[in-house]
Amino acid sequence: MFATTIDNLPSRTLKNIMSPTSRSHTVIAAATKFSVPKPTERKPPMDIQQIFGENTFWHAEMQARLPKTVYRSLLSTIQKGTPIDTKVAEAVALAMKEWAVEKGATHFTHWFQPLTGQTAEKHDSFITPNEGGGAVAEFSGKDLIQGEPDASSFPSGGLRATFEARGYTAWDPTSPAFIIENPGGSYLAIPTAFASWTGEALDAKTPLLRSMHALSTQAIRVLKLFNVTNVHQVYTTVGSEQEYFMIDEEFYYRRPDLVTCGRTLFGAKPPRGQELEDHYFGSIQDRVLSCMLETEKELYRLGVPVKTRHNEVAPSQYEIAPIFENTNVASDHQQLMMLMLRRVARHYGLVCLLHEKPFAGINGSGKHNNWSMSTDTGMNLLEPGADPHDNLQFLFFCIAVVKAVNKHQDLLRISVAYAANDHRLGANEAPPAIVSVFLGDQLTEIIEQIEKGSATMSKPGGLLGLGTRVLPPLPRHASDRNRTSPFAFTGNKFEFRAVGSSQSLGWPNTVLNIIVADTLDEMATALEADLKKKVSFEKAVGNVLTAAIRESKRIVFNGDNYTAEWHAEAGRRGLLNLKTTLDALEHMLDAKNRKLLSRFEVLSERELESRHEIALDQYFKTVNIEGETTASMARTMILPAAVRYLNELATTVERGKIIGTDLAGVRETLNEVNQLVAELRTALNELNKQNADLGGDTVHEKAYHMRDKVIPAMRAVRDVADKLETVVAEDLWPFPTYRDMLFVK
Ligand code: ADP
Ligand code: MG
Repeated sequence: MFATTIDNLPSRTLKNIMSPTSRSHTVIAAATKFSVPKPTERKPPMDIQQIFGENTFWHAEMQARLPKTVYRSLLSTIQKGTPIDTKVAEAVALAMKEWAVEKGATHFTHWFQPLTGQTAEKHDSFITPNEGGGAVAEFSGKDLIQGEPDASSFPSGGLRATFEARGYTAWDPTSPAFIIENPGGSYLAIPTAFASWTGEALDAKTPLLRSMHALSTQAIRVLKLFNVTNVHQVYTTVGSEQEYFMIDEEFYYRRPDLVTCGRTLFGAKPPRGQELEDHYFGSIQDRVLSCMLETEKELYRLGVPVKTRHNEVAPSQYEIAPIFENTNVASDHQQLMMLMLRRVARHYGLVCLLHEKPFAGINGSGKHNNWSMSTDTGMNLLEPGADPHDNLQFLFFCIAVVKAVNKHQDLLRISVAYAANDHRLGANEAPPAIVSVFLGDQLTEIIEQIEKGSATMSKPGGLLGLGTRVLPPLPRHASDRNRTSPFAFTGNKFEFRAVGSSQSLGWPNTVLNIIVADTLDEMATALEADLKKKVSFEKAVGNVLTAAIRESKRIVFNGDNYTAEWHAEAGRRGLLNLKTTLDALEHMLDAKNRKLLSRFEVLSERELESRHEIALDQYFKTVNIEGETTASMARTMILPAAVRYLNELATTVERGKIIGTDLAGVRETLNEVNQLVAELRTALNELNKQNADLGGDTVHEKAYHMRDKVIPAMRAVRDVADKLETVVAEDLWPFPTYRDMLFVK
């Protein structure tokens, strides 16, 4: 059962919501109620080995419960992608159900990732009434393999009219099924892909799986040219570093902006922000640490290999990172990680904020996406090797990635383009909207040598320029870290840093996989052509690499990505600078992208168009909700607070007159507040006007209206409101301030 509630944590009630005069006292109530258990009450330390994966139906359970032939067949599906037959599915369903029921599950769900960016589930009971008036637990192969949720309420971008509401979910046997526990009961969750009845992808998983397949095909083709013939599948691997904020839930509920939008729309800069740089890697406060431990325990039980935790740069900001896995599994696990962070936080009176920019003026949150390619024989294709042949192969794959990033800067930018991430990208805390690659000095030097031409490489000894003499000092574990680069080589993997904290890993990795599949394909074709002309292997590889480097070198930048000089330099190099989501989305349907995605059957043109439409729509809706929330908080919370204060000041001035004292200081304050109230009213009128006008009928027009009219109007309201926060009496201020939220733990 879900043993996560801390027994000694008193139940928190929201009944004692602040009266205006006791704001700070009640506001810190939840924080002060937490105490560390006494030594006698402490739980024994968790036995990670014992609990790891206990709530997943994976190899250990499969092996124990399935007939050998069934297990072997399933293994072949998992490892080689062979289709599953109905007999196997029946046997797996039976075993899975038995296991789940033993674990206390009463229901099952197909667990999928529609284009809302969240996960979706609809629970069905295992129990079917039988003729005798009783009930039996039933779960068939068909129940396992396919589900039919009503698809009409999920975003489809025009792929499916509401009258043809049918969608279906299809079991993904390559990602383990798992049990989600709740104090009231448990259910079995089966990872699935989600498509329309006509077979068009409506989710994040389907294109990801397709892209992994495309990359695998091209990578195997290249490996064969390098005479590596025992590889049957190449996976991409991902390890994501998840940043998040944790704040007291009492603050959260008092902030309509946090509840509705996930970020604060108001808030004056606190006297202390992150200037002291004392939070990063600092010791973790007890309540937060307890929460992290519990979260990690739940994740271990779900087989999510969580590895590190630490305090991040901003106050109340943290990071959790798992060990890398096959991208598909990593992506599902990443969803579970976000789910558990949110759920467990509540047991500690905390709320986990996954928004990219919950607080203005301090760092936002990202999700660094560490990415590599690995063979089913266990070889990391981005690991520099020990001998010349391996190194040549390493360089081939590494340069294919560099070439891909250069050729498809737009797609990478698009893969992280949505309203919330606009607050991060381009500010001096996260990589800029300009995509570039950091390679580090040593690798850059090697690449410069190769760029000079294959002559160096065809010297006697063949591999001189690429041989052991040059490569062994390559840093295995990146020594020179460049935190400002959006796409950095870190020794044996690339780290894509522009991914946002709330994002699913699905789309960014679909893009990464497919753009690298594209350049591997191109380079393999060139190599094959040279080899056909009887050019020696080393020379042919040299030719391909030289050409790729010449074409792509402009994307390599090892300096500080935050500087204005780089932005100017990037302009000279002709690199794209797609500053906002909408700038990026303008390129989504470019002929190049349509062709690429449909050529590898990752997204058909129709599917791509639908995703473009959904992205625009989500941008519009996100900002629209923020605009409305800003207006309503200003109108019903901030303005009334300021007016109450005005009243107090005016009354005082009046009283001064009665007793014959000119209260000059009070009068001055009165004027100051009065002035700000007038400014707030003006700004609010403008915002109301922009909120009422959607800018047009198409989603495109509405989205641009949001960016160009609503966002500036919101900013103007916030500017004045934040000034008011610093002058209005604290006991009248209607919601918790940054100081409360970020520092009371
Ligand atoms: P740091 O970035 O602090 O040096 P690591 O390099 O150990 O830490 O790892 C950061 C993340 O990168 C972790 O999630 C780790 O599992 C992941 N990672 C390491 N190797 C690979 C790989 N070959 N493919 C994908 N991710 C990887
Ligand atoms: Mg890292």
